[in-house]
Amino acid sequence: MNGCLFCRIAAGEIPSTKVYEDEHVLAFRDIAPQAPVHVLVIPKKHVSGWYDAQGEDDASLARLMRAAAKVAQMEGIVQSGFRVVSNCGPDAQQTVPHLHLHVLGGRAMAGEMA
Ligand code: 5GP
Ligand code: ZN
Repeated sequence: MNGCLFCRIAAGEIPSTKVYEDEHVLAFRDIAPQAPVHVLVIPKKHVSGWYDAQGEDDASLARLMRAAAKVAQMEGIVQSGFRVVSNCGPDAQQTVPHLHLHVLGGRAMAGEMA
């Protein structure tokens, strides 16, 4: 989608630190990490958020979940544990309207799921 930040990152127009990539999914480091491991997993196709993801085919949704697990494995946080978060809408403080999963790990999590 024109002007969408994560579409531009997916297209390589804006640089990112890539962790994993395949035909449909890109995972890259969050610019403002909230944990020692903080990776964003996005579909390359524009989807505005978790709610609108219901319109996607099952395989696309499964690919995101699988990529998040793969990222956890690649980052070495499977045994220690990790959290996957997807914010949807204003109350959740979604700031980028392109579906993304936060993969967080490398420290003990506390508080409000963050
Ligand atoms: P949200 O707040 O929508 O759940 O998550 C958006 C995330 O994108 C935030 O954690 C923010 O730090 C990250 N972010 C915003 N702009 C950029 C950017 O240009 N590059 C990268 N790598 N992350 C970004
Ligand atoms: Zn987008």
